[in-house]
Amino acid sequence: MRQRRGHAIMVAFPFQGHITPYMNLAMKLASKGFLVTFVHLEFIHHKLLSSLSEPDPFTMARKSGLDIRYTTISDGFPIDHDRVDDKYWEFMLLNFWIRVDEFVGKLIRSSDPDLVPFLVTDTLFTWQTAVAEKHNLLKVSFWTEPALVFSLAYHVQLLRENGHFPCKDHVEEEINYVDGVKSVNTKDLMPYLKECRSRTLVHKVQMKAFDEVKKADFILHNTVYELESGILSALNKIQPNYAVGPISFSRNLPASVTRTLWSESDCSVWLRSKPPGSVLYISFGSSLQDSKQIVGEIAYGLLLSKVSFVWVVREDADLPSSFRDEITERGLVVPWCNQIKVLSDPAVGGFLTHCGWNSVLESMWCGVPMICHPLDYDQPTNRKLVVDDWKVGINLCEGGCVEREEVCEKMDGFMNGGVSERLRKEMKKVREKLHDALENDGSSEANFEQFVKDLKAKLA
Ligand code: UDP
Repeated sequence: MRQRRGHAIMVAFPFQGHITPYMNLAMKLASKGFLVTFVHLEFIHHKLLSSLSEPDPFTMARKSGLDIRYTTISDGFPIDHDRVDDKYWEFMLLNFWIRVDEFVGKLIRSSDPDLVPFLVTDTLFTWQTAVAEKHNLLKVSFWTEPALVFSLAYHVQLLRENGHFPCKDHVEEEINYVDGVKSVNTKDLMPYLKECRSRTLVHKVQMKAFDEVKKADFILHNTVYELESGILSALNKIQPNYAVGPISFSRNLPASVTRTLWSESDCSVWLRSKPPGSVLYISFGSSLQDSKQIVGEIAYGLLLSKVSFVWVVREDADLPSSFRDEITERGLVVPWCNQIKVLSDPAVGGFLTHCGWNSVLESMWCGVPMICHPLDYDQPTNRKLVVDDWKVGINLCEGGCVEREEVCEKMDGFMNGGVSERLRKEMKKVREKLHDALENDGSSEANFEQFVKDLKAKLA
């Protein structure tokens, strides 16, 4: 009997930190013989156009033999709508599924009947079950943050029973009762589990997302088993979980596919003029902005220090007005860059980061120790992994208050002193785990193969 071919239907969650790994997952699935229909929301497509040479980001992927069809759907909001307000999140939470449902219905009706469609969704979307049940589809959920964050959010009921959800804002207690999680202090919990956020829409979206993921047929994690083995093994007792990261560094993915939403400034000429390991790379990711006051303290701290730096600043207005005039050749400020290229440059010796999970993975992949300054979402919990567990980073400020003198001291010490030597030694071990996982016989490759096998068996 002829085996029917699987058809992955993928709608991208509209944030940079989710788009890159998800596009890489799409290509990885296509490389295993699946047909992929990849969908961006129209406003994301519109943003991408400025950095794309072709209107379809997967053109080059197709040229290298991957069967990926690209299309867009509208979320019904104007292209330039500021999609951070409650109105937008409410729509995403309650009504977006109707648009996806229409799209999926049409796609299935017009597809070759030999194809077996299935959904591959970002875990943070909240419509998988509604759409999958209507069309009788298998559900693959893709989690783009560490397994520790997943496990804590997955076990909110247990946290609730122990008085840690919603967590009182200034309480510091150890959570040591979640299977597989050694111990996490409540101060390191994701802020959306805290009491002060419990009425926000972001909180509601996260909670609904974790109700949904419990109904998924497969869960993929963009992490490495060897880094989070206890947690992943414990989760595996409940549902099929596969650690397949860091997916963006998977072998043989076409490099020339545009995954980021802004044009990249080239830093390589400037970096070439700097001695090895002497430059601090600074970026706080794609979506969050620190307060003007804190950005100012970091900027003045940099000026006081002797450190050379590349700083990604998306909103120039947040920098102190004289900053650019004062940095001379010691610093380079860019609106966006190719972060992996910068982190791979021999001149770069440290990364001041907000601890977004992609940034953490990229830094570890390149072996660059971190100074951590988490802002929100999963970042405080990721910081705990980087600083306390894996010991490949330090905190920017110990007391939670960012002051220029401390920033200066930390940066100078980190870039020139013995601190980074100690971190570098630990980093070597972690980096090796990441690279090994993506070798042909590595855990992430093996897990991906196993996932493909299990999926095909269920699709048959
Ligand atoms: N990034 C980039 N250029 C920049 C800054 C960031 O390409 O100038 C990329 C970075 O490589 C990472 C993503 O943007 O893949 C940011 O994701 P992360 O999870 O670190 O943070 P988020 O943006 O989700 O807060």
